[in-house]
Amino acid sequence: MHAELLVIGGGPAALAAATAYRDHRGGGAVLLVSNDDVPPYLRPPLSKDFLRGPDDPDDPEDADGLLLTPAMTYPEQGITLRLGQTVTDLDARGRTATLSTGDRVTYGDCVLATGSSPRRLDVPGAADALVLRTLADAVALRSAATAARSAVVVGTGFIGCEAAASLRARGLAVTLVGRERFPQQTRLGPEVGARVAGWLEADGVVLRGEADVAAVEHGVRLADGTAIGADLVLLASGVEPQATLAAVAGAEVVDGRVAVDAQLRASVPHLFAAGDVAFAHNAAAGRRLAVEHWGEAETMGAIAGTVAAGGDAAWDAVPGFWSEIGDRTLKYAAWGDGFAHVRVVDHGGGAFTAWYADDAGRTVGVLTHDADEDYERGATLVAEAAPLP
Ligand SMILES: Cc1cc2nc3c(=O)[nH]c(=O)nc-3n(C[C@H](O)[C@H](O)[C@H](O)COP(=O)(O)OP(=O)(O)OC[C@H]3O[C@@H](n4cnc5c(N)ncnc54)[C@H](O)[C@@H]3O)c2cc1C
Repeated sequence: MHAELLVIGGGPAALAAATAYRDHRGGGAVLLVSNDDVPPYLRPPLSKDFLRGPDDPDDPEDADGLLLTPAMTYPEQGITLRLGQTVTDLDARGRTATLSTGDRVTYGDCVLATGSSPRRLDVPGAADALVLRTLADAVALRSAATAARSAVVVGTGFIGCEAAASLRARGLAVTLVGRERFPQQTRLGPEVGARVAGWLEADGVVLRGEADVAAVEHGVRLADGTAIGADLVLLASGVEPQATLAAVAGAEVVDGRVAVDAQLRASVPHLFAAGDVAFAHNAAAGRRLAVEHWGEAETMGAIAGTVAAGGDAAWDAVPGFWSEIGDRTLKYAAWGDGFAHVRVVDHGGGAFTAWYADDAGRTVGVLTHDADEDYERGATLVAEAAPLP
């Protein structure tokens, strides 16, 4: 078959690309191929409300409530979904994709929105642990949590912290294990990491920082020999962008992501990449950024779809996201590729703002808890490379 726009992926970047292409009067067939069995859905609740909620696999409302758009609207928009199918080969010169069914699809333009997949630790027993990326993963985790009394969560990034707090809210005894001294320390600095640690401990999560997992066996065994027993183990040890198809197609891949310009064009003609898999040039930052945020995936997807339809758009937004750890919300807007200084300002009642600056004192990020004004203002200061306030 032939698609004027072929979108590979079933996440926010993929759906935004297909929708924006139509919104900008892109004509011809639009085909979205996803190896997930479910039409595009929200991932952020999977470590938050969905994980805290009752386990009722027979309740279709539960999963339907996560859909980004009702299934029946796809035909109305002229978007064809092929679910549960993997694109296994991409020939950029012949503009042809091969599917796991053996079908071939020729395309006018192709948007690669293959996102990322959980990285499994390379230790004995890791294959038996649970991960959290897809709705199917979340259903399996919630069902395991219903039967469990204790859990070990490995990895102190946002998903690990959120999932640990949610499992604890379900009443499980939870230990959060990570290499960092404090959760989120590498990304946000020790001052903020210590605050996140305080929240998790106040909620009853046991923290084991500066720890390496040597094996998954009835819980985990640490490199120092300590055994932490648990009924379930969740690996939240980072993700790997899925850029293999771009490499196969001969497009430039940098640090495992597809190198694209601010219009999301890859280095081979008629190929775009958006979302977690992209290493996109941000016009305001003046450099390429690796971003793993929901909102950015949507923004990038929309830009790729717009440009593929002949419209004009470029990625220049400051990446931002919110995280919910238990009942506390963090809001973060930053280029996300490092900082030299951090200054934390307390506002009373637990509210705070962390300001991040580069070597030259320019604002490169802001993180807030119960301080929305600073979050809004911070994103502008980052965009303008203004001095720290
Ligand atoms: C539990 C959880 C909570 C999160 N919470 C937040 C949050 O609070 N805030 C935030 O900003 N971000 C959050 N994120 C991150 C956010 O979900 C991702 O940044 C976002 O989903 C990336 O979107 P994407 O479209 O690039 O890729 P993905 O959402 O990863 O989608 C990729 C899609 O491509 C499909 N695919 C991959 N390879 C192929 C192939 N070869 N053929 C066909 N299909 C393929 C996959 O099945 C999938 O459907 C969270 C993520 C998780 C897992």
